Amino acid sequence: MAELKRLSESRDLTRIERIGAHSHIRGLGLDSSLEARDSSEGMVGQLPARRAAGLILQLIRQGKIAGRAVLLAGQPGTGKTALAMGIAKSLGAETPFASVAASELFSLDLSKTEALTQAFRRSIGVRIKEEAEIIEGEVVEISIDRPVSAAAAAAGGGSSAAPSGVTAAGKTGRLTLKTTDMETVYELGGKMIEALGKEKVQSGDVVALDKASGKVTKLGRSIGRSRDYDAVGPHTKFVKCPEGELQKRKEVVHCVTLHEIDVINSRTQGFLALFTGDTGEIRAEVREQIDTKVAEWREEGKAEIVPGVLFIDEVHMLDIECFSFLNRALENDMAPILVIATNRGITSIRGTNYRSPHGIPPDFLDRLLIITTQPYTEDDIRKILDIRCDEEDVEMSADAKVLLTKIGVETSLRYAIHLITSAALACQKRKGKIVEMEDISRVYQLFLDVKRSTQYLMEYQSQYMF
Ligand code: ATP
Repeated sequence: MAELKRLSESRDLTRIERIGAHSHIRGLGLDSSLEARDSSEGMVGQLPARRAAGLILQLIRQGKIAGRAVLLAGQPGTGKTALAMGIAKSLGAETPFASVAASELFSLDLSKTEALTQAFRRSIGVRIKEEAEIIEGEVVEISIDRPVSAAAAAAGGGSSAAPSGVTAAGKTGRLTLKTTDMETVYELGGKMIEALGKEKVQSGDVVALDKASGKVTKLGRSIGRSRDYDAVGPHTKFVKCPEGELQKRKEVVHCVTLHEIDVINSRTQGFLALFTGDTGEIRAEVREQIDTKVAEWREEGKAEIVPGVLFIDEVHMLDIECFSFLNRALENDMAPILVIATNRGITSIRGTNYRSPHGIPPDFLDRLLIITTQPYTEDDIRKILDIRCDEEDVEMSADAKVLLTKIGVETSLRYAIHLITSAALACQKRKGKIVEMEDISRVYQLFLDVKRSTQYLMEYQSQYMF
């Protein structure tokens, strides 16, 4: 369980890195009647699209979205990924969000259906409830190599039996677990210390204890004031924790994705693959076993499925086989909300000689709720850039913001957003405190936008290889 918790933490880290460009999006910015606020929860403008996304949210919440998918159609940089992210965030902080570009699905290492399966399973969360019973007000003090005397143990814990499955106090060290009301004192022995060794539990750590198995899970550090508790020994501290803090810990659940469980259980890969992303093909039997296990946990009330959002960008790059995979996958009862996006009009369906709207086969088009996104106004761009400056902790003068907005209008929103970070670095280099126009124009000259890069290529094309 602790392993799963650590994994979910590290997954959060990788997720933040991958989608850093959208870290300011905290929802769809809708009011209670699903009307889009002009600027809210990091979302700006794009009102009709956000209103439509709000209705989709309602369908999802009412469980009426099964078998359908959402298509976001619009020009590059008009916030399609941001909208998909907004839907995921509105569904709750724990809702997994996986984003993949269709072209990423075609690699030499994985078959396209395996890559799609992994993407699907990355966007299906499993909320596993904490199995350990957490005693209210529990506090841990470990006095390794300083065993508490039998008399002190009897004084503190005489009336309460040690948890079953836990051996008697060992000679080399022991763990003292107390409740804040001081009614119970457990003296736990060598077996516990062994289990805790891997966790690197220290004095003052707060742990959860499963009475049945004697398994201890580290929850965090205790907080608040401490005082000596003489009955147990001079090195035993009694640390008081505010009620709210403990209540929260009582509700600790672990949320992991099916893909993470797959990788951990895949004998060939090992869990390090979660960090490298090099998971390889995962055998069908592994997934079947995991699905069976998860189904058992669900029946026993130990786990819940959290359908997330799977966002597939550049969907016109998928071929006919991928579309038939998606058709089938959407029928699964654990299917995530599938949001696809494209900036193409009528184009050919890959793997066939047919053309169709967005390069999507008609049977799949039939399943789609289509939302279009519109190019941004200057005012929207200014507001988005403002939000990004805040998000990246960059202080920028009003003049510099005006210039950056102008650049955003003439090039693209994404290019202007990228300039924020580099302009902040340029400012830092000249030991400035606030990003000024000079920093913006410096990085504008250093990094070309698409328009200038194309122009440059056209001017100097004779010097490039063909
Ligand atoms: P592409 O078609 O190239 O994939 P896209 O339509 O998915 O582009 P995004 O990547 O969502 O565009 O938008 C570009 C940047 O602008 C991102 O950092 C995104 O978070 C931000 N952004 C876009 N629209 C909005 C919005 N309405 N409110 C706030 N931020 C936005």
